Amino acid sequence: AGKRAPQRVALIGATGSIGKSTVDLLVRNPDRFSVVSLAAGRDHAELARLAILLRPEFVAIRDESGFEPLKEALVGTNIQIGAGREAVIEAATWDADLLVSAIVGAAGVEPTHAALQLGRDVALANKECLVCAGAPFMRAAREAGARLLPMDSEHNAIAQALGGADPATIERMIITASGGPFRTWSREAIEKATVAEALNHPNWSMGPKITVDSATMMNKGLELIEAHHLFGVPAEKLDVVVHPQSIVHGLVAFADGAVTAGMAVPDMRVPIAHCLGFPERLDAPTPRLDLAQIATLTFERPDHERFPALALALGALAAGGGLPTVLNAANEIAVEAFLAGRIAFGDIARHAAEAIDIAEKNGEAKEPASVAEALAIDHNVRDRSRRVLATSRL
Ligand code: NAD
Ligand code: MG
Repeated sequence: AGKRAPQRVALIGATGSIGKSTVDLLVRNPDRFSVVSLAAGRDHAELARLAILLRPEFVAIRDESGFEPLKEALVGTNIQIGAGREAVIEAATWDADLLVSAIVGAAGVEPTHAALQLGRDVALANKECLVCAGAPFMRAAREAGARLLPMDSEHNAIAQALGGADPATIERMIITASGGPFRTWSREAIEKATVAEALNHPNWSMGPKITVDSATMMNKGLELIEAHHLFGVPAEKLDVVVHPQSIVHGLVAFADGAVTAGMAVPDMRVPIAHCLGFPERLDAPTPRLDLAQIATLTFERPDHERFPALALALGALAAGGGLPTVLNAANEIAVEAFLAGRIAFGDIARHAAEAIDIAEKNGEAKEPASVAEALAIDHNVRDRSRRVLATSRL
């Protein structure tokens, strides 16, 4: 038997936190992986650096003003370059064995969906795909025979804890939450938290949007919606438990009382390595879990009073229809406004709740029948949120 040809990997969102961790694993396994395309949003300098390191066939930058500097940086390399929305889709659908989907936000929906429609296997870090367009997105994967590998740590842990069991046979599915930087803060203090305080996550180093989502606990709400679609488990069987050490990431409870858990040190390279290696195991240079050294694992119930975003997302999951789409769009714009210093931390969940009320009153919260319909709702809500928040000043 000869040596196996390297697996062809497309990576979108290459310059972000997940992108960087993915690249770290890919470069350590050069015989096993060949990176064929890369895409990023604005950071053309970092994208050029990655392109020179990884030598893909194609690179795409979403921000069109990044085209010229990227071209200049890649002179003499033979690497094809594209810019704009279509170019990102081209990178996502570039001839590959696996797409790693690591763009942040609903911007990841179109390119990831395009790859799924081609039957491409997708390692999915971008949870907003499933919150914005869950049902049609999963249907596209099924119909095209594409495999979705969950890269989000909780869902990856659950996929491993399931150990091949049919998710329909389980009694409960539980994801853990670190509780974020405000786990022990009062509601009044959380309300007025600053950007620096919200970005100071105790356990994980991640991009700014998901870090703010972790602080509001909207992230856990988005993850419940993500779990519902990924595993086809109804809302009543899904649960969240706060676990400040972030060692246990996801649990599955069976009808006989047995519970299996997925554990690892809080390092995204663990779930990323699982997806890249699947069905085999990759060697990953992650710190090893030493339970005796950690000594104590604690668990507590989430507090919906102090973290209204979690309650809001639970409501959207239970109500279904287009509400998760609305919630996701309004949250993205509110997080942007918070990071820009235009609204208070407490306004994020308030704005998302208002957006849901408006969508319900206007009859805009019907279940999207297709990814295109979900994106139409998303764009509407985004426009309205931008208008509402444009004039806000702290
Ligand atoms: P990040 O902000 O660090 O990186 C985002 C990436 O997306 C960057 O490469 C950016 O250039 C690119 N991008 C942004 N807008 C784009 C657009 N319109 N078109 C093309 N590219 C665009 O974010 P991150 O923390 O790496 O998170 C990425 C995704 O993975 C998110 O959906 C997040 O929820 C999910 N996730 C992240 C972590 C983590 O540890 N960082 C863990 C679990 C899940
Ligand atoms: Mg997660």
